[in-house]
Amino acid sequence: MASGKKSSSTKATKHDRPSLSLVCVDVDQPQTLSIAPIVSSYNEKIRPVLDALENLRRLNIAKEGIQLPTIVVVGDQSSGKSSVLESLAGISLPRGQGICTRVPLVMRLQNHLLPQPELVLEYNGKNVSTDEANVSHAINTATEELAGNAKGISNTPLTLIVKKNGVPDLTMVDLPGITRVPVHGQPDNIYDQIKDIIMQYITPEESIILNVLSATVDFTTCESIRMSQTVDKTGLRTLAVVTKADKSPEGLLEKVTADDVNIGLGYVCVRNRIGEESYEEAREEELKLFESHSLLSKIDKSIVGIPVLAQKLVHVQAQIISKTLPEIIKKINEKLGNSLNELEILPANLSSMADAMAAFMQIISLSRDSLRKILLIGEFEDYPDEKEMHCTARLVEMLNSYANELEICSESNPTKDFLMDEIKVLEEAKIIGLPNFMPRTAFLTLLSKKVKGISYMPINFVDNVWNYLQTVVTSVLNFHSSNYYQLQVSIRRAAELLIEKKKKSSIQHVLQAVQMEKLTDYTCNPEYLKEYNNLMSHQEGFLKEVTNVNREGNTVKLEGVGVINVVHLMKYPDMLTLAQAYDLKARLIAYWKIVIRRLIDVIAMHLMLSINELISTDLQKEICHELLAPSGGGVQRLLEESPSISGKRERLSRSVKVLRESKDTVANIMDRIGVYGDN
Ligand code: GDP
Ligand code: MG
Repeated sequence: MASGKKSSSTKATKHDRPSLSLVCVDVDQPQTLSIAPIVSSYNEKIRPVLDALENLRRLNIAKEGIQLPTIVVVGDQSSGKSSVLESLAGISLPRGQGICTRVPLVMRLQNHLLPQPELVLEYNGKNVSTDEANVSHAINTATEELAGNAKGISNTPLTLIVKKNGVPDLTMVDLPGITRVPVHGQPDNIYDQIKDIIMQYITPEESIILNVLSATVDFTTCESIRMSQTVDKTGLRTLAVVTKADKSPEGLLEKVTADDVNIGLGYVCVRNRIGEESYEEAREEELKLFESHSLLSKIDKSIVGIPVLAQKLVHVQAQIISKTLPEIIKKINEKLGNSLNELEILPANLSSMADAMAAFMQIISLSRDSLRKILLIGEFEDYPDEKEMHCTARLVEMLNSYANELEICSESNPTKDFLMDEIKVLEEAKIIGLPNFMPRTAFLTLLSKKVKGISYMPINFVDNVWNYLQTVVTSVLNFHSSNYYQLQVSIRRAAELLIEKKKKSSIQHVLQAVQMEKLTDYTCNPEYLKEYNNLMSHQEGFLKEVTNVNREGNTVKLEGVGVINVVHLMKYPDMLTLAQAYDLKARLIAYWKIVIRRLIDVIAMHLMLSINELISTDLQKEICHELLAPSGGGVQRLLEESPSISGKRERLSRSVKVLRESKDTVANIMDRIGVYGDN
């Protein structure tokens, strides 16, 4: 043990025994500081397990959703967290006013028979060797690098590995202390930031909460107790360390026996290093304090002193590890299985032109099949719950609403200002000739005016239909090309261009149809004559009623047209004009029905043809054109994988690598667990 002496040579110990013997205390006889073989062998057994866990931690297995058993140190600010860790590690940590611990500090203590302690700080992928004299400074430097040099905090952990003779093999995380009031230079939400970090560490069932409480305060008012109680109500995974026993010995015994705050794993009262004391002096002072103080000496020796705390922690750590390890292994295997499965179903990365062309043709053919089904046949089993994709039904709806609009518009209302337009037109169309000839211009003028009035409707209709088809076609193409990002971009652009073209041509078609209706009044439909003759058969009766001075009311009912207000017609007693206007109206009513039906039929037929052509030839042509055009980037683009797929592949591969390594790591120690479970 010469080495032990050497390391503490500046502070000569009065006793000829290893200076750092805290894990070697015999719980039953706490005064006897001697090397207890059970604990040393314990250290040797637990070490590989802790190593394995450390590896898992380093692999960042938490990212895979697997929590590791961890002892988490929490406490209100200045409760003595860092001092407790210091006492356990036998080194000096940054202590001071305000907030010192600003990032989670993972402290890994390892018992080693080294002449000099070895201290290594790990953060941001760096390994920084340091020593006892400089560790405070090194931690501060690292903290500044992680959390800035103001008083802010960060959730990026810093790992301190302490290899030292006589320390317990323990891994703990020191967290920033809870502070209600931000000090100067701290962000206003400092409390929430710290609370978030603490909750993140203490929430997992796998965490043991080491709650550091100052003897000087009322435990029930401790913020850290409140927090730990929210995640561990019964306190089954909470262990309390009561610091500053020296400062507030009165009533301490009662406080820890009463257990007002549900500490399931029990209390340990300690006295940490004060001022410039050496670590060894501090332990001796602590021993003396609990030995001889009138009040403190009454506290059971099994719950006082840093050595007891160390021993308890080692046991608790072993228990939680053996309890959680099987579950961890199970989770690793599950996650590994899932990740491998996911990797398997990712689309193959295209590596040759032949593959690329095959994929391209596959996409086109699948998309055409889908489009044919939903747009033409009316099968939508691929999209059972997406109403938007039940296209045949949606198209019928659109057509019906277009037809309805045509039928209810004012141009289609025969009763409004009955015969007025006709009378006016006939006035203007008068020519020198026989009076009983119907001037054709009168009819054409009225027809053309009416057609013009409704011409926006078919245009809007085809516009709507193509907008709708745009979303459907894009969605189908996107779906089938989702694994080929570059191709998807080209295909989408091709589809947009194509639909735009088709829409233009449809509108052209509609304009032409409208123009034809304006120019020529023709139909071979016998309905026209039938309706005309029918209306004309009521002409005489109707006109008689109009001119009837004894008529009751202002309306006359006209068979096949409806109830007509006729007051305005009283001004036109000229029977010939009225008769001619009626004749003109009868022609218009009968013919308008033909016109409207034609505008519905013709456009519906045109759209169906256009959709058919889109699916059978246009789409493929346009996409090939877009893709193979010099500006399209060529088929090579097919070989570029989508960023989302390659990102996913990368993430999964990384995850598989981590999980495989974790599995190996754990497999190496599996045979050792079980040894600790019953301790
Ligand atoms: P932290 O903010 O919880 O990390 O608290 P620190 O470990 O920095 O301790 C805050 C202050 O309490 C420091 O000045 C320590 O020296 C002092 N302190 C910690 N433990 C004890 C103890 O057991 N007895 C006495 N008298 N002071 C202590
Ligand atoms: Mg601290």
